[in-house]
Parts: sequence; C-alpha cells; structure tokens
Amino acid sequence: MYLETTRLSYTNSKAQRVTFAGFTEKDFKKRYLAALETGKREYIEKYTVPHIADLSDSDVQLALIDAFCIAREASVQADAFFSAALKSKQPNKLLSDIFSELFSTKKPGGSDYRVVQETFEKTRRGLDGSVTICDMFKGADHEPGGPSWGPSEGEVLIPQHILRDYSRRAKKSDAAGDIMRKMLEKEGEQVQDIYMRFNLVRELTVEGLARVIFHEATHKFAYTGDYQYIYDATSMKGIKAKQALYNADSYAFAGMSVYLNRVVSKADLVGPAACSQPMHDMRWLQDRML
Ligand SMILES: [Zn+2]
Repeated sequence: MYLETTRLSYTNSKAQRVTFAGFTEKDFKKRYLAALETGKREYIEKYTVPHIADLSDSDVQLALIDAFCIAREASVQADAFFSAALKSKQPNKLLSDIFSELFSTKKPGGSDYRVVQETFEKTRRGLDGSVTICDMFKGADHEPGGPSWGPSEGEVLIPQHILRDYSRRAKKSDAAGDIMRKMLEKEGEQVQDIYMRFNLVRELTVEGLARVIFHEATHKFAYTGDYQYIYDATSMKGIKAKQALYNADSYAFAGMSVYLNRVVSKADLVGPAACSQPMHDMRWLQDRML
C-alpha cells in the first residue's frame, strides 16, 4: 500500500468538507519509490511518475476543487430540476431530451420521474456532506481487485471480501449491472471513498472531471450500477430504459446536462485539460468551498 499520502482539505461556512488524498511528485519519489526494489522502481518510475497529478501544483488543486464544486452544484440543480418536473409535469424540452437521450425513455411516466429525482436527491445529499476523493494511485498498489491505474476513470472502493464474491458472480452473468447495484445497496455502509484518476486534470475539462466525480457519487450515495458507459460507447443508444434508470453514466451526463442547460455528450466533456483552463477563479470557489 501507499502509506503516505498528501491530503488537501477544504471546508466551507456550512461545515461541508472535501478532502483530496493523493501525492506530490516529490513525496511519491521520496517515500514510495525509494523503498521499492530496483526492477519495480524502474517500472513504476517509467509508467507512473510522469503521470502523477502533483497535489502541490496550484493548477491541479484549482482544477480538482473546481470540479468538485461543479459536481456538487450540478447535483443540487438536478435534484431541484427533477423535483419541479415531478410536480408540474409541464412539457420541457431539456427534460424530454434528457429522458430520450440518456434514459432511453421517450414518454416518461410518473414512476420514471420519481426514480430519477430520488437518485439525484440521494446524490445531492451525499455530496452535500463531507466527501473524500482519492487519487487512483493511492490504491494502485492494492491487493488484486482494488483500485488500479488501468483504463478506468474512477471507482468506489469496496472491501475485498465483498468485491471478490461480486466479481465471481458478475463474470458468469450478463446482468452484471444488476448485481453491482444490488451489492452496493446491500453493502452501502461498507462502500468507502470515491477514487478518481487525478491525472485526468490533463485530459478532461473541469466539467469532464465533475462528470467523473458525479458518476462515482451516484454509485456511492444512490447505488447505481454500470450498464453502459458513454465513455466508451459515445452515446446511450441501445440501452434498455429499465437499465438506464439505474445507470451511473446516464445520471452523470444528465446531471451535467442540467448544469449546462443542454444535453451533453462525450465530446462536450473532453479537453482542453482542466488544469490549463479552469472554469472558475479562486473567488468563485471561495464562497463555495474555501
Ligand atoms: Zn461506474
């Protein structure tokens, strides 16, 4: 395990705290690399060090806190938007676009509104509290099955013994999304921190990073499953409505769509990199988190 981490914590006037747990490059080299045997050290150095998002870099700090504040704000707005929709049932273009493009539902009924609103409400409640987000590197040296620095953008950490059992059943089944969802619901209390590849600050916009945080937050706080990713499918086409209503990426993109007031696609949420183009300055963040 990576024993030492750098933690950055921000608390606002409402006592909501967000903590980012990751590394500075210097710390990583000194405390971790130095302790490794030669072969492994070279391997890690080659593949890892150039990609570390250095938490002592103020551009990285700004991108992460900005992304978190946007994810939190998007959850507040999405909860309010769907709560209003549930009451009024008035036609609304953004609402019908979100349902048809992200939830595969052309004519949503009352129960569809309710499921979506409740999922956003749970996500909002979770992000409204104190949250820790860890760099995937923090767990990269974990036992098999733990977070890794593979292709995944983020994860929620689930204790080994639970994950092992789930992976075994999910592998033999084409209902992996259902199994994941039921597991999260059953083991909710044991689901630990949100993990994200912090070096995504060099690949995604701030909204793109917020979308990753939002996705993981819906797993942690609202027990969504992974049925289909826009991330690797470019759209939600083909997903069944029943699955889309519980699909993490549908919510992540729907949340960002409400925040940006238009249905967003994968192309909207990649580059230019967040750390080179933050959305907000420190003053904007000051009221929200600092
Ligand atoms: Zn997921």
